[in-house]
Amino acid sequence: MRLVVVGGGIIGTALALEAVGRGCYVVQLERDDVPHGASVRNFGMIWVSGRAAGPELDLALRGRARWQELSDRVPGGLVRPAGSLIVATEPAELQLIEAAAARDDAGWDWTVLDTRAARKREPALSSSVLGALHCPHDALVEPETVLTHLRELAAEAGRYTFQPGRAVVEARSGAVLDHTGSTHRADAVVLATGASLELLGGTEKETVSVRRLQMLEVSGGTPTPAHMLADGNALRYYPAFDLPERALLPLADPEVGRYGCQLLLAPRRTGTMTIGDTHVDEPPVDFASSEEADEYILASAERVLAGGVGAVLRRWQGRYLRRTGGAEPYLCSWVNDGVLAVTAVGGMGMTAAPAIAADVVSLLLGS
Ligand SMILES: Cc1cc2nc3c(=O)[nH]c(=O)nc-3n(C[C@H](O)[C@H](O)[C@H](O)COP(=O)(O)OP(=O)(O)OC[C@H]3O[C@@H](n4cnc5c(N)ncnc54)[C@H](O)[C@@H]3O)c2cc1C
Repeated sequence: MRLVVVGGGIIGTALALEAVGRGCYVVQLERDDVPHGASVRNFGMIWVSGRAAGPELDLALRGRARWQELSDRVPGGLVRPAGSLIVATEPAELQLIEAAAARDDAGWDWTVLDTRAARKREPALSSSVLGALHCPHDALVEPETVLTHLRELAAEAGRYTFQPGRAVVEARSGAVLDHTGSTHRADAVVLATGASLELLGGTEKETVSVRRLQMLEVSGGTPTPAHMLADGNALRYYPAFDLPERALLPLADPEVGRYGCQLLLAPRRTGTMTIGDTHVDEPPVDFASSEEADEYILASAERVLAGGVGAVLRRWQGRYLRRTGGAEPYLCSWVNDGVLAVTAVGGMGMTAAPAIAADVVSLLLGS
């Protein structure tokens, strides 16, 4: 099969790699000279914990396993099995963590650690941490380099071409037209265009919305954490913690109400740390970052890290598309004859991409 993949983010790239591995000829078209959408702006967390039991958790677990297979093909590896700690600084957060770990459907292999055990496992934690949920499945990749590695893997078979700087303006049965006027013919087209809605149909647009996140890179304090970290505010958002004990959490700080702030922290291979984030459903005109939200995220990191955080090195925003309608964890929909849209993976696209790629290629090949 000849396949055109539109979009050079993690979904398009994982799809291209999977399709090439299963014998397809793939042309991947990317609008920018170097992709710089959600897939390079994220934490790089292959985050299984926190997912809703059922299709979402299944996707995350399969994604984690396939990431490992890909990682094993690259000298030096792609995935660091860092594990994660969701830390509690309030008794009610610890109570919710304990309740979540006791769920019968917990397929996450979680352990609840008291303050001593948490600080023994992660010496970078401060004394304000009352306990933590250790999630060993969780892992890290480096978002700024991982797409390049995956493209190199795809190129090994000799059936893959990556064409950056090509904005697709029309996708129809058996062909796409790019902004230079070139037509690329194929047996099937996959639109993996992330938060860009131009090529989606009206029905698809009605079931998705764009969410904006604020992120920072900071230099690490001493010691720098080895684990990915999340703070108690994360318990307010992730479905695995949607339990009666959630109602007992302390009243959320105003910044949590205004910007959907939580602390997520990913230690980078370079020794710096990516921290975030906010969850704001994109308003039509407000494009600005909030300094108040950044300050809150920095203060949250200072609270849970014994050595605090160093200088702010970079700040950026990212956007992802998420589903607001439909039962499946992501959008997979024929928008035209032979043209399949695969997007709206929300905050788990990095985690789930290799599993989504396997499912979508099976759909296309009918196998
Ligand atoms: C700040 C942030 C942090 C996140 N953290 C995590 C995390 O730690 N773990 C996790 O699992 N998930 C995380 N996510 C979610 C994850 O990053 C996304 O779900 C995922 O990257 C979406 O991938 P994508 O390929 O669909 O989109 P994108 O990465 O946006 O890629 C889409 C690509 O399509 C291209 N494109 C668009 N239109 C056209 C066109 N017409 N022609 C050609 N090319 C086109 C764009 O230029 C872009 O490169 C995070 C997201 C954000 C924003």
